[in-house]
Amino acid sequence: MTSMPFDTRLVLINGQWRSGASGQTLPLLNPSDGSLLTEIARGNAADIAAAVDSAQAALDGPWGALTAAERGRILLKMSALTLVQADELARLEALDVGKPIKQGRADAVAMARYLEFYGGAADKVHGETIPFANGYTALTIREPHGVTGHIVPWNYPMQIIGRSVGAALAMGNACVLKPAEEACLTALAFGRIALEAGLPAGALNIVPGLGEEAGAALSSHPGVAHLSFTGSVAVGQMIQAAAAMNTIPVTLELGGKSPQIVFADADLDAALPFLVNAGIQNCGQTCSAASRILVERPVFDEVRARMAERYAALKVGPAMDDPDVGPVISARQREIVQGFLGVARDTGLAIAAQATLPADLPKGGCYVAPTLLAPAAPDHRLAQEEIFGPVQVMIPFDGEAEALKIANGTAYGLVAGVWTRDGGRQLRMARKLHCGQVFINNYGAGGGIELPFGGVKHSGHGREKGFEALYGFSSLKTIAIKHD
Ligand code: NAD
Repeated sequence: MTSMPFDTRLVLINGQWRSGASGQTLPLLNPSDGSLLTEIARGNAADIAAAVDSAQAALDGPWGALTAAERGRILLKMSALTLVQADELARLEALDVGKPIKQGRADAVAMARYLEFYGGAADKVHGETIPFANGYTALTIREPHGVTGHIVPWNYPMQIIGRSVGAALAMGNACVLKPAEEACLTALAFGRIALEAGLPAGALNIVPGLGEEAGAALSSHPGVAHLSFTGSVAVGQMIQAAAAMNTIPVTLELGGKSPQIVFADADLDAALPFLVNAGIQNCGQTCSAASRILVERPVFDEVRARMAERYAALKVGPAMDDPDVGPVISARQREIVQGFLGVARDTGLAIAAQATLPADLPKGGCYVAPTLLAPAAPDHRLAQEEIFGPVQVMIPFDGEAEALKIANGTAYGLVAGVWTRDGGRQLRMARKLHCGQVFINNYGAGGGIELPFGGVKHSGHGREKGFEALYGFSSLKTIAIKHD
């Protein structure tokens, strides 16, 4: 086992680190070489019940008594501590997720930025006064939901914790966080940062464990007032069903099959790095990965050739070596991705480029060669389903109408990118794309912490990031006072 900076086998409940109720642990593997990294607690329904009780007690006690400005100051302190520890957090993420060091560090900086943004926003969420009948004053106030449940995946633990727990705490909720069983370390480190920053006991509780045990217990607990979930469509649907039984709101972020659309008049030099990076970043395990590249026919061959050059230059390797592309999270995820590549082979989908896997990669590592497939038909399985690996498909099109039909023609609708110099087309496309975010002549806007984010259709609903998330983590109360 690799030496860890803290005991990783504990849960955080009521400000105390303790063993889980079952006393059992789960192994945490290093995807770069398959070795046993450490163990984590196998939290269960009893731990979740204790965590929810502790969160409710915090709301009824010191945490609930703080002013918005005081909550904000604690979040700002958490942000500062996160930045101080960014290198260590990046190391933990590299070991745990297989994320190249530079990308892990960027995630730590992003988490700090979320905490800074929401810390600053905590005392700036206002209600309104409403012109109403004579003799009345009517107003609205925003209140926390109460205990919020956060079920987080393994691909971007720090960013997702920052945006969801950060916003929920800023609004005065008390949180129960269930990190993914494949990657827990930075979630546990986050708990330590919160305590060091003076977050009152119980405002944040962390229960690692299996999805079907701790996750299911959290999503069905009657003491939880709001759930936010990021992960697969299948589990998202289960979470929504569980939330329905308790009649509580849920925010779902369920991934996508996001396109980047390249018109013949685009600045290709500007587009090229985004076209490839947004597909292979975090080994393609990104909800907003640009896994479909739609290219107008006159420039299709040129874009394919130039993307292929970039693929050939990609360095794949262990996360601690800081390559362009690390391993996928697990042997299971590698099998999923290789299954898709098998379908590509069996259906004659041409490989336009494939990075070479170095011969000396660690044997137990979960590596997949980044692969560019082109041309694909828009209805091909690999052009429709989320692969969650370093695989992109290219689809040719003729004109705006066909580009829109293809772009909107999947079950998902998370993000889209449009590359064109034509201003009218930029706006027409932005208005007609059926998704939650559109980027014109860029993709992702460098993370865009301030920019509301979320999907339509199977990509989910509700918005995270930006100010919008604060509305999602609050409940609006209307007060009408009759004074005449
Ligand atoms: P998953 O949806 O099973 O896991 C995500 C989180 O949900 C984890 O914390 C897990 O413990 C929890 N969970 C699992 N079952 C649960 C249940 N019954 N009740 C409550 N919580 C539960 O995702 P996965 O199996 O890790 O990955 C499978 C696929 O999901 C991937 O190939 C990818 O397509 C997709 N995915 C998407 C995202 C995203 O960012 N949208 C993230 C991870 C995975």
